[in-house]
Amino acid sequence: MAIKFNKVALSINAHPDDAEAWNAGTLKLLRDKGYKIVIATMTGGDLGGCNMTMEETARVRFEEAKKAAAVLDAEYYTMGGIDGFLYDTKEMRLKIISLIRKVRAGVIFTHLAVDYHSDHRTTAAIVEAAAMVSSLDTVPVPEKPVDVTPLLYHSSPLTLTDPMGSQIVPPHFLVDVTSVIETKKQMLGCHVSQIELMRHMHKMDDFFGFVLEGNRNYGKMAGVEYAEVYWQHLGGGFQKEPQVQEDLSEYLINKM
Ligand SMILES: [Zn+2]
Repeated sequence: MAIKFNKVALSINAHPDDAEAWNAGTLKLLRDKGYKIVIATMTGGDLGGCNMTMEETARVRFEEAKKAAAVLDAEYYTMGGIDGFLYDTKEMRLKIISLIRKVRAGVIFTHLAVDYHSDHRTTAAIVEAAAMVSSLDTVPVPEKPVDVTPLLYHSSPLTLTDPMGSQIVPPHFLVDVTSVIETKKQMLGCHVSQIELMRHMHKMDDFFGFVLEGNRNYGKMAGVEYAEVYWQHLGGGFQKEPQVQEDLSEYLINKM
């Protein structure tokens, strides 16, 4: 008999605006299917400010992220890591295990292990390790273990290449997010501080337009206007039920 996973989708990423950039459309579709959404960031995005101290930036970005999460009635947590200096530590793994247990996550989204950003790669490693043991009662955290290891999904970097420029394994599926693209834009639009930062750092006038351009390019591969791409974690120790794919079947494209 197929295992049923809690309809709680937890999106854990490195920085405020990552969930919005990489999987907001999918989270909105899941919410509309009755899932509870939880968004967490490993860091406060403290480095991502212009003319502000790291503390000020983290404060501003916390409010922006909370506002974006509220669009999906989602809870928002930040885990206390430092932007640009995220390490895979015992403390961080335990914090993520506590969070998975506290919110009773059935489905987890995080970055891909070969993402372009080192904080994203570290997040992927922490989340994978934490998720794998979240159902074990020997782990030294106070929260009650989850009944079953949550399903783990990885979201796309900006392109389908690794940091060395090599093609990565094709996504397992794409989600057509055309019908919810306005929600995604609304969530991205909450991150006002990032628009200025991208202008300063990458001389990029329209960062969120750039993100949406990525969704448009993925859409082209799938014959729809906008798409998000995913890989399901299929390594040993993880359940392989295609629950998200089934729950979003009318939006699913797996012809890669
Ligand atoms: Zn990020």
